[in-house]
Amino acid sequence: MRLRNIPGSREEIARSRYVIHEDVMKEKRGRWKEVFGNDHPLYIEAGMGKGRFITEMAVRHPEYNFVGIEKYSSVLLRAVKKREEQPELENLLFLRMDAEELPEVFGTEEAAGIYLNFSDPWPKDRHAKRRLTSREFLARYDKILAKDGRVEFKTDNRGLFEFSLEEAKESGWIVEACTFDLHNDEEMMRENIMTEYEERFSRMGEPICKMIIRRERPFGADGA
Ligand code: SAM
Repeated sequence: MRLRNIPGSREEIARSRYVIHEDVMKEKRGRWKEVFGNDHPLYIEAGMGKGRFITEMAVRHPEYNFVGIEKYSSVLLRAVKKREEQPELENLLFLRMDAEELPEVFGTEEAAGIYLNFSDPWPKDRHAKRRLTSREFLARYDKILAKDGRVEFKTDNRGLFEFSLEEAKESGWIVEACTFDLHNDEEMMRENIMTEYEERFSRMGEPICKMIIRRERPFGADGA
């Protein structure tokens, strides 16, 4: 999602109490419990766009903490504006950053789960590493996810979805659940929250794919 650059968006974001400033976000590594003031499990959405999904998750789940990540200021600003209308939410913060930097901002096993919704497809082979479900990104998630943590990924893009399933298997992740038609899958639709892109594509009649993956960690294999 590339919105028109909004002049001043970077400065406005820097002033927001809901955005952890870029200059200090790496200091929070391993200390997100202190940031939220509780030890609730922490969930991250990478590439959240305008933030509808993660904001609704935060509303529905006050027992969890949420951090939404977005690369572009003009897009993040939309999420911040929506966040400002819900000051009663105490469990939702945002970061303007590239998801590549996740392991520098979150510590080992600090995340209970990661959501990826309608991630950019990067169709050219030479850009495969930029896809948020590439093996390079899965290795980053591996560093910050709790042992039993899951990555949940939704997309309308069948090619990207098939690539993602392959990357997960090649990287030793287990596909716990998978559908090529989420909106007709009663089990996987339970508790579904529509993202902005999901609404747009499903209205156009496009089937939505979803997978939930976790790492293969046989009991005791990592010495735990
Ligand atoms: N998740 C939203 C949804 O489902 O409606 C937005 C989907 S939009 C296609 C993808 C978003 O991910 C864009 O806002 C883009 O700026 C952001 N994004 C892409 N690559 C990113 C990265 N490496 N780190 C952080 N955000 C990223």
